[in-house]
Amino acid sequence: MLFDMHIHMFSDGIAEKALSHLTQLFGHPPLTNGTVSDTKRKMKEWGVTSFTALNIATKPSQQKVINDWAASVQSNQVCCFGTVHPDAPDAPQEIERMAKLHLHGIKLHPDFQEFMITDPKLYPIYEAASDLGLPITFHVGRDPENIEAPHATPSGILQLSRLFPKLTIIAAHLGGARMFDEVEQTLAGKNVYFDTALTNVLCPPEQFLRIVRKHGSERILFGSDCPWQSPLDEFKWLERLNLPSKDRENIYWNNAVRLLKIDKS
Ligand SMILES: [Zn+2]
Repeated sequence: MLFDMHIHMFSDGIAEKALSHLTQLFGHPPLTNGTVSDTKRKMKEWGVTSFTALNIATKPSQQKVINDWAASVQSNQVCCFGTVHPDAPDAPQEIERMAKLHLHGIKLHPDFQEFMITDPKLYPIYEAASDLGLPITFHVGRDPENIEAPHATPSGILQLSRLFPKLTIIAAHLGGARMFDEVEQTLAGKNVYFDTALTNVLCPPEQFLRIVRKHGSERILFGSDCPWQSPLDEFKWLERLNLPSKDRENIYWNNAVRLLKIDKS
């Protein structure tokens, strides 16, 4: 059983435009056409039972529309994280609305949304998410378009986890894409979750194993970053690492259903 905690898809009206923009940015073609129907079909083909779609508003005016759409596409197979924009004055209220819509968490992308994760202007968002028990997935690490000045670093995530000890933090890309030495030294073993998105292409296997050992498999979530990477390729990569079966079960399934509080026994 596989639960992919990090995928992207879009409403039919914007999927084509969103994917062509991101394809230019990332420099390689997507594996789905970005729509809900194509994503659901391909996930089944790849052996992914359920998945979490992460959504990002790049303007304050988008957050309500995206969250309403996200709530409308949830099903047994699909969970969604909603979005708020840090510059939206009503972001904390929107988080309350998100909880009522039964969205499962929040995605923040500090590079796309142009904020530093430790900026106090974000605190009301962190407080609202913490009070409502909604996890926040942060994009963490160096992106090709922002390689010198990442907006979220492993050390920043550690600082945040100390400021907001009750907030459930999911640090995407194993705690920091292209910053795995810092992850290993400062963040591994601390009270945050990691997802595995892009580690199969970015992280040396030996280092991945060291980080899993230090961090504990009960706080690591399988994630692919589909449509930019294939969950099947990542699954095969993880299988080749020969982790103990208990660790694999935690990473592939158990942690996700426990964290999202969904009954999938
Ligand atoms: Zn992503």
